[in-house]
Amino acid sequence: MATSRKPASLFDKILIANRGEIALRIQRACRELGIKTVVVHSEADRDAKYVKLADESVCIGPPPSGLSYLNIPAIIAAAEVTDAQAIHPGYGFLSENADFADKVEKSGFVFIGPRAETIRLMGDKVSAKNAMIKAGVPTVPGSEGALPDNPKDVIKIAREVGYPVIIKAAGGGGGRGMRVVHTEAALTSAVTLTRAEAGAAFGNPTVYMEKYLGNPRHIEIQVLADEFKNAIWLGERDCSMQRRHQKVMEEAPAPGIVARALTRIGERCAEACRKIGYRGAGTFEFLYENGEFYFIEMNTRVQVEHPVTEAITGIDIVQEQIRIAAGQKLAIRQRDVVKRGHAIECRINAEDPFTFVPSPGRITSYHAPGGPGIRVDSHVYQGYFVPPNYDSMIGKVIAYGDTREQAIARMRIALSEMVLEGIKTNIPLHQELLLDDAFLRGGTSIHYLEERLAARKLAG
Ligand code: ADP
Repeated sequence: MATSRKPASLFDKILIANRGEIALRIQRACRELGIKTVVVHSEADRDAKYVKLADESVCIGPPPSGLSYLNIPAIIAAAEVTDAQAIHPGYGFLSENADFADKVEKSGFVFIGPRAETIRLMGDKVSAKNAMIKAGVPTVPGSEGALPDNPKDVIKIAREVGYPVIIKAAGGGGGRGMRVVHTEAALTSAVTLTRAEAGAAFGNPTVYMEKYLGNPRHIEIQVLADEFKNAIWLGERDCSMQRRHQKVMEEAPAPGIVARALTRIGERCAEACRKIGYRGAGTFEFLYENGEFYFIEMNTRVQVEHPVTEAITGIDIVQEQIRIAAGQKLAIRQRDVVKRGHAIECRINAEDPFTFVPSPGRITSYHAPGGPGIRVDSHVYQGYFVPPNYDSMIGKVIAYGDTREQAIARMRIALSEMVLEGIKTNIPLHQELLLDDAFLRGGTSIHYLEERLAARKLAG
């Protein structure tokens, strides 16, 4: 954005409660704003370069995230000893943990994100859906709230919804806690199983039912909202290229969806933010089928794929999160949001591109791509050791162009330049997809990648 927004008062020091590429991303935003950073890290991340670049760093525990990046008392103690004023949770880990947000604020720090009660409301997918229905956002048809205990009642609901249905955990996330059911015969056991899994994985056995959409796309809307009920939407992202319900590649804008329909849903989202008193950056996730949007969930944090929106709007979403948390009014009005060009993001994972088995280890050789329109968000470097303890995503390459074709061409060149040796990565999979006819046409559904991978297996 070209607007000059001289902050009245921002924080002096922010603690970054995360690791990897997003820790570096947040650190860069802070440095640009003249804010000092404290990075907390586990023993496994001691040597990371962003840890050395931070003004201060605090080791908060051994490698397993349960003992470090999820260790709330250790993180709050680190903020206390370093005199940080605010805590940025990034994504994953504690970013959508309402108790953490509560404790941060009760300990006298600012949580860079929505209020704890909003996180709680949106963190439970059943209450989130109900809130959206109230706010006039269209949702996937399904059970009204949680499924009842009596299997007969569940069967009745499924008949009304119509098969196939999907049983989803209210507390689910990360693509886990979902089960598709095609026939009545399979329903009761599927519900029992999903309940048991949800209880074990998320500490909440509540499940609900949705119509299983056959061929939807995953389209999401990025929003920003301040304390004063100003809310704007920054366009959409298409994240349909998924494997096991996890995003692999994202782009903005979404190919082939008419602007009017997007504006309508974007405005609904901004209005919903005002209605629920949303604060911060957030994402409304939708399935899109036959010209209709159906809300599935809201993420109350910065998302992995935020750079594609930054590329086409010129708005720094992480800096906006910080400004909003500091109590500033949004300086960007809806009419200031001008979208230009096209951006694509490839998530670079340390994994086998065929079997998808994680591939941690030492990076023996590394060269990042560059050139016009290329952004690389990654904390890795030559000699860096990818620890086996965390998510396999080690960075993102974002390509921007005037047109989708130019963004794709630039991405192809970037990935061909990129050198990352010593471990396996999914770069070859991206290269394959960037030549794929259906991808090139644009608008593939959430099932496309899985179907393509299944075909690849057969052919192989
Ligand atoms: P999570 O919080 O685990 O990411 P979501 O509710 O966002 O779960 O769903 C993740 C993905 O699962 C979606 O992007 C989509 O691919 C698939 N999915 C979820 N609900 C449905 C549905 N009703 N019909 C078809 N696919 C669905």
